[in-house]
Amino acid sequence: MPNRRNVYFFYKPEEKYEQKVQSIFQLAKQYDFTIVNDYRKANIIVAIGGDGTFLQAVHKTGFKDDCLYAGIATGETLSFYCDFHIDDTEKIVEAITSEQIEVRRYPFINVTIDGNTKFQCLNECTVRSGIIKTFVVEVFIDDLHFETFRGDGMIVSTPTGSTAYNKSVRGAVVDPMLSSIQVSELASLNNNHYRTLGSPFILSGERKLTLEVVQDGNDYPVIGLDNEALGIRNVQKLEISLSDTKIKTVKLKDNSFWEKVRRTFL
Ligand code: NAP
Ligand code: MN
Repeated sequence: MPNRRNVYFFYKPEEKYEQKVQSIFQLAKQYDFTIVNDYRKANIIVAIGGDGTFLQAVHKTGFKDDCLYAGIATGETLSFYCDFHIDDTEKIVEAITSEQIEVRRYPFINVTIDGNTKFQCLNECTVRSGIIKTFVVEVFIDDLHFETFRGDGMIVSTPTGSTAYNKSVRGAVVDPMLSSIQVSELASLNNNHYRTLGSPFILSGERKLTLEVVQDGNDYPVIGLDNEALGIRNVQKLEISLSDTKIKTVKLKDNSFWEKVRRTFL
């Protein structure tokens, strides 16, 4: 990686891994990388932990499109966003010493809440009833009123998020090479008044999805942006689209998305 030398490390200090983390820092210095304390000065951002840590690293550093993100797993196995393992320094060295690194690009979701506040999600945006009662959402695809949802909530996921929450509700696993957003339901109520498609659906990345929370008293849904809950209380409208820019990660040999799917689930 001759043109990327400034590394920012994102991790939760834990005694268990401290020594291993220190040896990763040593490795970086040994190969002439500069460790920066301000992510704005970085062109490589390394998350040490699991997928959850990687998601946090991307959020905390603002989905930087001029950076290369890399995840180092500390758990028993590799995970979706962590291509390296903290014990496998050989692979880390191989990646940092290679002249030309291959880059993998992952799209993310842009969410605009009530026309002004903007957020991004790498896995998914979820809208869930904040209380035990159901809530109602009008679902629009572009300008088309598509369905009226009543139930527990909805998940709107990216291709890389398709193996996370979306998969637990029987959503499809989507190849990240397909620019798309998937909408899946959490316990929709279906009767003569309320009818939804019932199956997850996948939209082209060119489309816009709008979710309007019906203001009927239960209009304080919980909004999840990956692993963070949104602080805004009353929400009326969410406009969701796929980003034009993408998150860059390191592409390794024998580690395609479908290899990860097989490794994790089969
Ligand atoms: P968590 O509750 O620890 O995450 C649940 C599991 O999902 C963890 O094993 C995590 O891996 C894994 N994961 C995260 N992103 C993934 C991806 N893109 N593909 C496959 N697995 C993935 O919370 P967290 O670690 O902060 O992760 C947040 C994510 O958890 C959310 O974005 C959501 O997708 C997911 N989630 C799932 C459910 C569910 O399945 N019922 C409910 C809530 C949230 P690590 O152990 O490596 O972190
Ligand atoms: Mn986790």
